[in-house]
Amino acid sequence: MRHVYGPVASGRLGRSLGVDPFLGVKTCNFDCTYCQLGSGDPAGRGPTRSADVDEVVEQARRAMAAETEAVDWVTISGAGEPTLHPELGMMIDGLRRVTATPIAVVTNGSRLHRREVREALSGADAVLPTLAAAEPGVHWLMHRPRGLGAFRRHVEGLREFRESYRGRFWLEVMLVAGVNDDREHLKALARLVRRIRPDEVHITRPTRPGAESWVTEPTFAALIRATAALHGVVVRPGRAVPAGGRAHDDEGVLEAIEGALRRRPLREREVLSWLEHAGVDEPAAALDRLVARGGVRRVARESGAFLVPARVGADFEVRR
Ligand code: SF4
Repeated sequence: MRHVYGPVASGRLGRSLGVDPFLGVKTCNFDCTYCQLGSGDPAGRGPTRSADVDEVVEQARRAMAAETEAVDWVTISGAGEPTLHPELGMMIDGLRRVTATPIAVVTNGSRLHRREVREALSGADAVLPTLAAAEPGVHWLMHRPRGLGAFRRHVEGLREFRESYRGRFWLEVMLVAGVNDDREHLKALARLVRRIRPDEVHITRPTRPGAESWVTEPTFAALIRATAALHGVVVRPGRAVPAGGRAHDDEGVLEAIEGALRRRPLREREVLSWLEHAGVDEPAAALDRLVARGGVRRVARESGAFLVPARVGADFEVRR
């Protein structure tokens, strides 16, 4: 099922069934330096890759029906920025009809200044936008948006959305060492956050491989500083959820892992535990087979070995 992945363990949303509105091809108006989907040519404009809403809803219905364990959230978040899907509101309504599980949308928050985007998101139970900068220079360094005024629109959009939205509004602050984690910047960010009034502030870190190798995690001291300044909680990275209880053939398990990897890198040991749990014979050999067929490659990080898609950044669509 190409539009649905997981359930995965999300540090912010527990056991979450992922719904990708973009056919697994990165589709975004940002080019974040920490993006787990890699970077791409910001000048490129590919064909429309938006998923068909009926197909997405039907696949989510089937995935939820097959689940034997509780799912905490159905989360629209995948290979890009969900608010770029022209029928996001219809997708949320459709998912609502086929599941009683609450629906969340993870967004970069850059398009909330548009009324049609705020309306589309109004049906979600939780919206999780990002704010990582207190001024335009840092905003550019983090997200590399195009055009003038991106930072101002971003902040105003968050404020306007807060005024009208009745669901849970959880703001993500991604901290990158040496970019947005110094004392003065955090103070300025805290002033902005007070104006926006999110229900919660979630502090995240670039723990997985991303677009730029110079992007690293903040120190423990910086995390403490941020927690205090922003009244936030530090999100612990989610761990991959083994696909328990379902009968899979080995090929089906490998395809499910490839599908999840198109949306985010996974730790090698998590994938091994996933394979073991699914009853795959010789998990290490199965993992080697997965890498050998070329769609996935190994990347070493200080925090351990990861698997990432081999073509990170190769299929990249920028939309405005
Ligand atoms: S907004 Fe998300 S998908 Fe888009 S570039 Fe940034 S991290 Fe990647």
